[in-house]
Order: sequence, then structure tokens, then C-alpha cells
Amino acid sequence: MSVTDSLSRRGFLHGTAAAVGYMGFRTESLHAREGRRPPHGLEQEADAYDRLAKLHFNENPYGPCDSALEAMNMAFKYSMRYGYPDGGVRSAIAEHHGVGERHLLLGAGSGEILEVVGLTFLDHDKKVVGVDPTYGSVYSHASGIRADAIRIPLLPDYRQDVPAIIEATNRHHREVGFVYLCNPNNPTGRTITDAEVRQVLDGIPPDVPVLIDEAYHHFVEDPGYASSIPYVLQGRPVIVARTFSKLYGMAALRLGFAIARPDIIDRMSAYSTGSINALVKWGAVAALNDHAAQERVRSITLQLRKQTTSQLKSWGYDVIPSETNFIMVHTGRPIDEVRRAFRDRDVAVGRPFPPMLEHMRVSMGTPEEMERFLQAFQEIFEI
Ligand code: PLP
Repeated sequence: MSVTDSLSRRGFLHGTAAAVGYMGFRTESLHAREGRRPPHGLEQEADAYDRLAKLHFNENPYGPCDSALEAMNMAFKYSMRYGYPDGGVRSAIAEHHGVGERHLLLGAGSGEILEVVGLTFLDHDKKVVGVDPTYGSVYSHASGIRADAIRIPLLPDYRQDVPAIIEATNRHHREVGFVYLCNPNNPTGRTITDAEVRQVLDGIPPDVPVLIDEAYHHFVEDPGYASSIPYVLQGRPVIVARTFSKLYGMAALRLGFAIARPDIIDRMSAYSTGSINALVKWGAVAALNDHAAQERVRSITLQLRKQTTSQLKSWGYDVIPSETNFIMVHTGRPIDEVRRAFRDRDVAVGRPFPPMLEHMRVSMGTPEEMERFLQAFQEIFEI
């Protein structure tokens, strides 16, 4: 049976699409933009990229919402300026998250925030403590600035080993610059519960900063999970990192932020570039206010996560329960090889995450992209 048969019987594309109004979901404007021709001589690379089902970077395939696009179009008129109205981006973000502006540091993506935390807290040969695998930029940045990491393996169910994180932090207290918790974790998609976050905060010396990366916060359904912003307001040394790259679909526009105690923000500010472009400032304010658009992205992403997971499970493949916009499936084959086979079919899937070398991380693309992914999966695994 072809995947199209089996999936259309399940109503994979049309069921999902109808349920969340996907067909009216800005596809025209997106597709029109994808079809636009790049300047002469640059077409080949752009065409190859446009052809791909892009399921490798946990992006939001729908892009910024219409209200954000409108705001950004308007903001082009500031392109040649240094000083210009910024749409009140700082107060909008602070207010939206129930904190003051003094709790806030903006970065060119949350990637910049993670680096600023490294630069602030990893001097004098300090180490970062965290699990492995996790969002690896934190460790690669640490090694780039000649710092080190204490990496704790995941538990057999791929959750983060909270007692081991606490034990390692206490044992190496004087060497630890900060603890990194990615919640939910990339690449596994699993959460640390609120009770576990509290266990970490209460179990380690009170002067050790804890960076909690909530890039995928908006896709969590686990009732035991909670954002760690309230710990900042309690005065704990917690730095929460968030991004406009995922739910808000602005990865290429680069905006992220940290929420932390004002004294911690002041220390971090010395290392930040402050290079936020005019467009994303205005787009971010509009996106924060567009609750309907946020809900559309969230609900279609969760539906595709459920449907893709159950399809893969029905074919006999284990999928790690995910609380993000991606899933991880155990393929039982070397992932490099599997990845190449998908790429030959114009489907880009996640890179290897050692030591999970038979697992494939797949981002939730559009319903059409997920159909192409499942079709390719059937061909490659001869289902
Ligand atoms: N943190 C996590 C866990 C991520 O997965 C990513 C990107 O995929 C980032 C941070 C960086 O995102 P950005 O710099 O686009 O905000």
C-alpha cells in the first residue's frame, strides 16, 4: 500500500488541514514567496533549497504571521537609520511575560543569549554542567572560549538525570560556572517537570546560576511542566532563554531574549552586541499580540506531532514522546546513512546526535512536507 493511500485513508493531510484551517493558513502568501525568483545567477542554490522538505532545524514552516509581516513591511522605512522608533519591543516582551524591563536582555536570537551566558559565567576556567545530548551550541561555545563541560548522560528513557546534575554540581561546586537545562530538551523533546527544576534549584549551592532554555516552551502539553520565569521573580539565580524563532516563525530575523534578575542582566549586558534589526523589533511586537496566529501554529504542530508519531509507531518504530515541534524516532540503522537516503528524496532530517546514532530527529513541517517525509520513510524502510 502506498503511503498516500494509507495516509489519505487516515486523512493525514486533509484531516489535519481541515481541523486547523490549514488551507486558509497563509499558504498562498508563503508559496508565492517561495516561488519568487532570486537575482540572476543565484537561482540554482535557491531552487535546490526550495525543493527540500526542511525538517532538519526545528523551524516553523509557516513563517511570521500576517500582522508581523505588515509591521515589518512598515519598518523597512527605518532601514537606513541608527536611531528610530522600535515599536516598544522591550516593554511589549516584558509585559507579555509578567516581568519588568530590567529583567530583560534582548539578543540576536536566543543563540546570542546562550553565548552571553557563557561569556559572563565561564571565565576563570569554569565549567558548564548539563546533559548529553542537548542543544550542543552551549558546549561548543564553551570549548571555543577554552572552558569545559561536565556532561551527564540521559536516563534510559531519555529524560534528564536530575539527581546526577545536582550531584555533579555539588561535587565540582567551585569549578561550576553555570548549569544548563534545556526544557524541553533538544534533541529528545522531553521535559524536566517543574518539581524537578525546583529540585535542582534547591539541591545545588544557591550562588550557581542556572540557564533554563525554553526555546520550545510553547509546544509543551505535559501538565507537570512549567516555565521557570517565576523563579526569576523569586530572586533565584535563574536565567530563562526564549526565542522568536520557533512559535513566531522568525528564525532568520534573529530575536531572542533572557529573563533574569536585574543584577544578572547587568552582568550579562556587558557581553551582548545589542544588534537587533529594525524589522524584527516591530514584527515581534505584532507577533506577541496575535494570539490567533500563535494558536494556529501551536495546534497544527501538535496535531502533526501526534499523527506522525502514531503513523511511525504503527509501522513498529519507537518514537520518544516529544513536547516540542520535532520528534525523535529510533530507526535501527546508522543515522548518517538514513539521512543520506532521505536527502536523495529531497527530505532534510536532523543531523546525528551522538551517542544516539540510530535515532533520527524530524521537525514538524507543513502537512505536505510530513506526507513527503512518511512517503520517503516507507520507501527507505521498505514498509
Ligand atoms: N536553544 C535551543 C534548544 C534550540 O533548539 C535553538 C535552535 O534551534 C536555539 C536555542 C537557538 O535559537 P535562536 O538562536 O534561533 O533563537
